[in-house]
Amino acid sequence: MMPDNCVFCKIMAGEIPAKVVYEDEKVTAIEDINPQAPHHYLIFPRKHVRTTLDLSDADTEMVGHVFQVAGKLARDRGFADQGFRVVNNCNEGAGQSVWHIHFHLLGGRNFSWPPG
Ligand code: 5GP
Ligand code: ZN
Repeated sequence: MMPDNCVFCKIMAGEIPAKVVYEDEKVTAIEDINPQAPHHYLIFPRKHVRTTLDLSDADTEMVGHVFQVAGKLARDRGFADQGFRVVNNCNEGAGQSVWHIHFHLLGGRNFSWPPG
């Protein structure tokens, strides 16, 4: 079910504009509105799942698919060889601010470790 106040559900419904860089029957990928790297995309499922803690067996294939889409975007956009990050923030302490599960794909620069 689509919650009325979910920004990513609204983007998929065309109610909020976004730069869509990939979509298929399982996931959508958009440019992040506040990019933290030269390439910063958000990959999320069509199905509204609140956080990583809410994933079920039915979502296992989707999560694997997200990583395949991340690799495809990185290759297609030319930053795969340099290296990239796929990040999921779960709950407020980790920085989650949108409550529809999503995976950040960050690339086009070098990244330090540990993350902040
Ligand atoms: P989180 O903090 O939950 O891990 O990541 C949420 C991300 O969504 C942030 O990087 C933020 O910039 C992005 N974001 C929030 N609202 C919008 C929006 O309306 N459009 C787009 N394209 N990105 C958004
Ligand atoms: Zn949603």
